[in-house]
Amino acid sequence: MDYNKLADLLFPNIDKTPEDYEALYPAREEGKIITRLGPSPTGFIHLGNLYGAFVDERLAHQGAKSGQPGTFYLRIEDTDDKRFVEGAVETVINSLKFFDINFDEGATLPSPGEAYGSAESGAYGPYFQSKRGSIYQAFAKKLVLEGKAYPCFLTEEELSDIRAQQEANKETTGIYGKYAEKNRNLSYEEVEANIKAGKSYVIRMKSDGDTSYFKVMDAIRGEVSMPGNDQDTIILKANGIPTYHFAHVVDDHLMRTTHVVRGEEWLMSLPIHVELFGKLGFEMPTYCHTAVLMKIDEETGNKRKLSKRKDPELSLDYYRNEGYHPQAVKEYLMTILNSNFEEWRAENPDADLDEFNFTTEKMSSAGALFDLNKLNDISKDVLLKIPAVELADFLIEWAREFKPNILPLLEDKEYLVKILDLGRDEAKPRKDFICAKQMWDFISYFYDDYFVIEDRIPEQVSDEDAKEILRRYLETYDHSDDQSAWFEKIRTITDELGYAVKPKDYKKHPEEYKGSVAHVSTVVRIAVMGRSQSPDVWSIQQILGEDKVRARIAELIG
Ligand code: GLU
Repeated sequence: MDYNKLADLLFPNIDKTPEDYEALYPAREEGKIITRLGPSPTGFIHLGNLYGAFVDERLAHQGAKSGQPGTFYLRIEDTDDKRFVEGAVETVINSLKFFDINFDEGATLPSPGEAYGSAESGAYGPYFQSKRGSIYQAFAKKLVLEGKAYPCFLTEEELSDIRAQQEANKETTGIYGKYAEKNRNLSYEEVEANIKAGKSYVIRMKSDGDTSYFKVMDAIRGEVSMPGNDQDTIILKANGIPTYHFAHVVDDHLMRTTHVVRGEEWLMSLPIHVELFGKLGFEMPTYCHTAVLMKIDEETGNKRKLSKRKDPELSLDYYRNEGYHPQAVKEYLMTILNSNFEEWRAENPDADLDEFNFTTEKMSSAGALFDLNKLNDISKDVLLKIPAVELADFLIEWAREFKPNILPLLEDKEYLVKILDLGRDEAKPRKDFICAKQMWDFISYFYDDYFVIEDRIPEQVSDEDAKEILRRYLETYDHSDDQSAWFEKIRTITDELGYAVKPKDYKKHPEEYKGSVAHVSTVVRIAVMGRSQSPDVWSIQQILGEDKVRARIAELIG
């Protein structure tokens, strides 16, 4: 077979050579880490993407500390147009930006009206695989020319017959060994005749069929040892579009990626990629196969993969809607990414997350366990460190997008800041803010439109007593009382109405009292806040202001 002739027959319009592309995309600066995110534009961006992107981002950017900032770029893997969703690129960029994960290069946000696939920046583009057709073809042509790839005309029917036969014989399925022979050995004339007859064909790599074990150093898993590939894997589909296998090898080489971070579902195809890198004469990048995100199933108590259908928390939209602070999500992700992070955080409570030295070696290769409760706990700590003014801005931004009807209320920022700051500077500060939605639920009673009596008065207090407590409270209320003067008045009412001033007296002799000071103050709490649990009542009243306090008490007295 004359491979030169075959290559020209298959790729008549490809005149650039791999050497041309090598020259076009020169090696990057030695020693710098180059990573990429390669999402398909399906419009769904999930926690797994964020998890991987965070690894990419850290690997590339933490080099800046030692004067070697790397590059993290965005490549859109859009070879499958069936999965394409309008606006998906914007979703990827914006979703990650929210978490302060930014790309240095690659696809960018299009300006209004800009055609799909043209918004990008960087010298290693195009960064949309759909725009790289002739590049893939040039490399496929080279493989054909070197006798390392060939056109395969197997029809759907033939393929399914082969499959059925392999299944019946309990053999590995696919096109390899004797199943590949027919098409591998076509003569030039046969290929030409098939093409003239309009037969459809794919281009397959001619595998060496060497299934002996090879070793690869995975940055997360350490040494991975697997049997070599023997499948004549498709590199170009019948429509000339590359498969993932081929596209990623060509792209990661030409874009000079040093570290390929991807989900462990790709580990299985590593033998194909190793063979492709070898056949193309490219140096392999360092692979980092991340573990699948798992959770404990609420019903069964067993570990399972996070599922798009069952687990809303898999979608990144969930964190935006709920109003999780990006810093909290990242802080949490780092705890599942690196096993030594929590220890570092304990020693460096105020350090910026980026100061932590992230390493792939400390990543777990078994499933990473995602736990929403843990995220919530971490979120409480993170939010506590954020000044109330910033929290207020954060809440306002969240409301702008997800609860615009409360925006006019939040306009009084001074009031909002006071509310958010309540109880935070004490020796044991309140740590109950988790996310914007829940923060709003917690503080909504400060706003009359959202003030509702949610809890019932304690059973120790009769309706009549409740009214009497409030009547006396209102009568003696002096907004300028300091906290101890205020509490003294509560104690007086408590005592006068036959409740124990000291809760422990009530505990010891329940028959002697109707209840205790705790029950009496709960009545006040419910009248002022509508809830039996809240931060310190006196402080809340100071923020609410005298008029609101009096009006609410009066309202409950009726
Ligand atoms: N487009 C592939 C995916 O979405 C990318 C895998 C990779 O990062 O290589 O899974």
